[in-house]
Amino acid sequence: MEFYRAHVLVCGGFPCVAAGCRAVRGEIERSVKEHGLEREVRIVETGCLGPCDLGPIVVVYPEGTVYSRVSVDDVSEIVGEHLMKGRPVRRLEYTERLPSVSQADHKRPDYFGIQERIVLENVGLIDPDSIEEYIARDGYLGAGMALTSMSPDEVISAIKASGLRGRGGAAFPTGVKLGFTARVEADQKYIICNADEGEPGTFKDRLILEGDPHKVIEGMIILGYSVGATMGYIYIRGEYYLSIERIERAIAEARRYGLLGHDLFGSGFSFDIEVKKGAGAYVCGEETALIESMEGKRGEPRQKPPYPGTCGLWGKPTVVNNVETIANVPPIVRNGADWFRQFGTPTSPGTKVYTLTGDVNNKGLIEVPMGITLREVIYGVGGGIPGGRRFKMAQTGGTAGGCLSETHLDIPMDYESLQETGSALGSGALLIIDDSHCVVDIACALLRFFEHESCGQCTPCREGTRRLHDIFRKTRELAATEKDLKLARELAGVMQASSLCALGQSVAVPLFTIMDHYADEIEAHLEGRCPAGVCRPNPANADESAYETLQAGNGIR
Ligand code: SF4
Repeated sequence: MEFYRAHVLVCGGFPCVAAGCRAVRGEIERSVKEHGLEREVRIVETGCLGPCDLGPIVVVYPEGTVYSRVSVDDVSEIVGEHLMKGRPVRRLEYTERLPSVSQADHKRPDYFGIQERIVLENVGLIDPDSIEEYIARDGYLGAGMALTSMSPDEVISAIKASGLRGRGGAAFPTGVKLGFTARVEADQKYIICNADEGEPGTFKDRLILEGDPHKVIEGMIILGYSVGATMGYIYIRGEYYLSIERIERAIAEARRYGLLGHDLFGSGFSFDIEVKKGAGAYVCGEETALIESMEGKRGEPRQKPPYPGTCGLWGKPTVVNNVETIANVPPIVRNGADWFRQFGTPTSPGTKVYTLTGDVNNKGLIEVPMGITLREVIYGVGGGIPGGRRFKMAQTGGTAGGCLSETHLDIPMDYESLQETGSALGSGALLIIDDSHCVVDIACALLRFFEHESCGQCTPCREGTRRLHDIFRKTRELAATEKDLKLARELAGVMQASSLCALGQSVAVPLFTIMDHYADEIEAHLEGRCPAGVCRPNPANADESAYETLQAGNGIR
């Protein structure tokens, strides 16, 4: 085994790749070699460290010094000063240093200190292409424990006791879902990892897969064992090329190590995984539309029941969970349900991974305990609103999520508290919007998205999304009447009650929260005024919305 006096971690999440981290890495390798440090310094490309708009990011251990916005021209100084002389380059240093890898150090009221990393425990720290590094961090220990010393029922009981709920949006208890499929007699069952992630502004599953692919494989093995499924599929957006590359390499490595395939851990249980690439429709994130797409059909939701747990892929019992949910499973099995329950709240245990975007200083990937307040996320982890502007709105859960106003800054971010406000945790997108934006313009952009993504199968959604968009476009042009808005509310209510799938049903969530929390601002549009100064009669580029730039992660995504 080789020992190194320093490790240089180059963040290789897709935002840093887009910012040029590969060129920086190449220059570090060249410079390290030039200085004869190859045997003393190891260079590792990791997954996403988190602060995505500060890339390329380089971290030097053992000090934990974080360098942000590193260019190729900065490398000679980092190598010459820091690695050769032990003097960190202050001008490039991010204001915070990374704590050591132990959870106990994560207790400071700042970007890294507030975070609690369970799902992301290895992301940004290990080489995602190295199965050895994953194993060195207790990887595959949970699978080994489950398959060699627990019965399938005991695994399900442990997951039930942990209180883990689906992190893809629906928040259904994971253990209960497993119990449904475990009870069904069938010659074949499946596990599907939903990595479709079509919600604008959400890219956490992508970064989890890129940063720690073996954890998702391990979680799927445990889930497969618990319900008696021998085959798993990862359904992933085709444009997530880096995630696909890394997960495919990880699957090949796991097979080579005997961690996928026949007779895992000598237990007699066999399990394998294949990757299926989706074409990128928003509605394919819905589990039955995803299954239709996997079966080679048009990606349209099915009528439920039957639910996939009893009749899913090719008519067989199928457990569908998203990436974040599955990544929670190995630590729960490894450390126990009580350990998991120490994080979060009694009814929403654990953590939540968010992609924090919009008008906030620190944008990127974060993981915080359930129950943390919105204020702590925005002003602690997020570092506040840029340019001295005022907070106006936070949209939780992506386009289909609810909108929170200034009066909600101190509510705990957990399933129950958000439900009380008419919102939801949803997929994990957390979009922060400052007072330069108009809520009507935002609603208009949301509705345009739903109109575009409706699969058209059922009338309330197909026609309703179009009509709602028309009404809010009229409101943005300062030409709507009170009657129009009354109709919008009525229509969204009908869609909620009668649409076939969550897409049509959830249009009301952002719309009602905007209409309820910003009634005065909307009312002003009926009087011909836009308090934010955004809307005007007959605008030239009516569909160009600043909101859509925010949703896209300000260029991160
Ligand atoms: Fe399609 Fe919308 Fe109906 Fe869902 S609600 S099936 S997306 S038309």
